[in-house]
Amino acid sequence: MDCLLAFKTEKLRHLEEGCRQNGLAMTVQRRVVLDALAERTDHPSADQLYDAVRGRLRGISRTTVYRVLETLVGIGVVQKISNPESKARYDANTVRHHHVHCIRCQRIEDMHNSALHLAQLPTETEAGFTLIDYSINFSGICPDCRS
Ligand SMILES: [Zn+2]
Ligand SMILES: [Zn+2]
Repeated sequence: MDCLLAFKTEKLRHLEEGCRQNGLAMTVQRRVVLDALAERTDHPSADQLYDAVRGRLRGISRTTVYRVLETLVGIGVVQKISNPESKARYDANTVRHHHVHCIRCQRIEDMHNSALHLAQLPTETEAGFTLIDYSINFSGICPDCRS
């Protein structure tokens, strides 16, 4: 089984479990939106996902895609990632990882760097927060925009 297929199968299982625990129906819209997001590495916006799914599911509306994404985030199957734009961007990978954002084309890709795993990070802040998780966001210029 290839990596993407394995990831999609795992996400589908996660969705089934999330729906069951929250008393939600496992609708075809939820499945299709999650599938389309799991296939991408560029962390699309809701509008970009709408463009990707409208060809696959006739009659799906933009509003439905927005609502489905909110549900998927709410049950923890998808995460909204922080980014410099005002538009939300989505990620089907909810395991901690880091991102790099292209300042020209707004593409966001995952960033894996062993130095980031070795960083000694604080467990609480001066304001008294107990830290439970973190992600680091880098910005730069992607190869397409550089050439
Ligand atoms: Zn770029
Ligand atoms: Zn990511």
